[in-house]
Order: sequence, then structure tokens, then C-alpha cells
Amino acid sequence: MTGAAAKLIARLGEAKLDAFFVSAPANVRYLTGFTGSNGLVVVARSGLTLFTDPRYTIQAGEQSSCPVRVARGPLSRAAAKLAARKRWRRVGFESGRMIFSDYSTLRDSLGRAVTLSPLGPLVEELRMVKSPDEISRIRRSVLTNSLALDAALPVVRAGVTERDIAAELEYQQRRHGAEKAAFDTIVAAGPRSALPHAEPGPQPIIANHLLLIDMGACQDGYSSDMTRVFALGRAPAKLRTIYRAVLEAQQAATAAVRPGVTAAYVDGQARKVLKAHGLGPAFVHSTGHGLGLEIHEAPRIGAKDTTVLAAGMVITIEPGAYIEGLGGVRIEDTVLVTPSGHETLTPTSKELISL
Ligand code: ZN
Ligand code: ZN
Repeated sequence: MTGAAAKLIARLGEAKLDAFFVSAPANVRYLTGFTGSNGLVVVARSGLTLFTDPRYTIQAGEQSSCPVRVARGPLSRAAAKLAARKRWRRVGFESGRMIFSDYSTLRDSLGRAVTLSPLGPLVEELRMVKSPDEISRIRRSVLTNSLALDAALPVVRAGVTERDIAAELEYQQRRHGAEKAAFDTIVAAGPRSALPHAEPGPQPIIANHLLLIDMGACQDGYSSDMTRVFALGRAPAKLRTIYRAVLEAQQAATAAVRPGVTAAYVDGQARKVLKAHGLGPAFVHSTGHGLGLEIHEAPRIGAKDTTVLAAGMVITIEPGAYIEGLGGVRIEDTVLVTPSGHETLTPTSKELISL
């Protein structure tokens, strides 16, 4: 049994539950190794059981670290039958993850004698601190992402469309070992870079402006995340000034990363710098987020998150400033919290490079 499974079982005892049903795919993968799209893990005092459907019989047998039961029909109904056989009285479920129709099936299948208890993000809390194996997977993913950017840069020039650049970046991620992109690649040129989550468009990019690229690889199941901004020719002076301010904020926040400080404190360091440059209102999102099996995980590096950072957490540091009609800048690295402070995993230069 993995350490995570043992910790969850200990939590069952504290919460006076007979079992905990885990259905979020990333949590199922974390607990069992199973990567299929339809899985449910029953965490009981005696151990874990993975439920899946007949499409995944072979795959689950190969991947799962715990016993597998193949069921036809809704997995929550099959798990409820197990609960009835075991005479369980209190069962927990992931209230932030289970969709209502699955909840209804589970509720109806369990019958009135069983109390169904909504539980918070217990598995997500365990996932915040990565194991050495997870950290090495994230390192590889980060490296792949940076190599893919380097390999794609020769196609980036005025006249090429944002969509073509995004396609090239994702092709190069796969060429360098990723299964896929960790999220839809963002390529935003000129004034469109003021949209923090711009979708790549069909229009050719223009010279003498900024180009923002936000990309992440998914390799061995683990994400990386990086944003870089380039100048196509000579960028407007105001945007070059903003670039320097955002870089200063990114470095200040990164320097603050160490075990024992809160996520909110790190966010505050980036916010303080941008405010001093008159860019407080232009910084419209939080400073970063955890990442791992999912691209956005706890903790959120934001003003309201009081999570205390611990060695083994992997987060992004990505302040930005966005001016409507002009453009935006965001600079993002993937950063590991180490026992003595932090290590920036992303090797790509943060100088404003002209292409
Ligand atoms: Zn990103
Ligand atoms: Zn990010």
C-alpha cells in the first residue's frame, strides 16, 4: 500500500467513516496508478479497491496497484453493492468532484441505512507535497516544455498565425517526449496579449510588438507550465517598461518561496512590486498555482490562500500586467519548494529576446 493510501485510511478512522469513495480521475490515478477515464476507488479500513468498466479490464490489471473489480453499469452502483455486503453505515464522497447524477445514483443505491458524508479535498491535500518520483517526472516535463519552445522558435516570425505557432509548439512537445499539451497553448500577439487566456487566432502576427506564449507539457502524467514573452522586432517602449516591472515581481515572488511561508505571502511579494510600478490594477490574477497530475492544483498562490508552503510542493510563479488596447506581459516558471528554499525548474531565459 502506498503512503498516501495509508494516510487516507487513517483519516477514515478520524472521521468515523467505514469507507471513502474517490471518483476524480486524477485522484484515482494518484491512489492506484490507473489512467483510464472511468474509475472509482473505494478506500476502506482493509485497503483500496478500484472499480472500472469492461473497456478497461486489461489496462486496469496492468496499471492498478490495488485489486480491481470490473462492473457493468454505473460504478457508484457497483460500489454501493460492496457497501451493502460489508454492512457499511457511513460512507464519504468527494463533494467538490462528484457530479450530481453520480451522487443521485450512489444515494439511491446505498439505501436509507447508509449516511453519505460530503468530504473536502482530502486526496488533493495529500497531492500537494510531491514524492521524489513525482518531482523527477515534473522535472522531465519542464525540460521537455523548454526544449519544445527552443525547437519551435525558428517558425515564430511576423506573418505567421498564432494558431500555426501553437500547433508547432504542441508538435514539438510531443516530439520531445510529452503525451500531449497540459492545456490549450496560449499564443497571443500585440494587443491580444492583454487577454490573460487568449485563444490563438487565425490572424498573422504583426512586427514591432510583443508575443506572449503560455505552454505546458504533460509527460508521464505530470504537468509543466511556462510563460515567455518575446519582442517581434522592437516592442513599444511602454511594454518594455512593463516587462521589466513584471520580471522584477516574478523574481521577488520566487525569492520569497521557502518552507514555512504562506502562499498569500508569496503572492503579496509580487503584488507589492507591481503596485510600486503603478501596475497594481493591471495584475488581474493570482501569482501562481500548484501543479502535478493536473495543471491547476492546490495551493493557489493568491492573496487569500493561507496554505503554508512545504518542501516537495511544486508551484508556478507567474505575475502579469495587462493593459487593454496595448498588450500584456506574464512571466511564468515552474518552481520546486526545497528544504532550504526553492529551485526554479524552468531553464529558459527570462531576458526579453527580440525575434
Ligand atoms: Zn501557464
Ligand atoms: Zn500557470
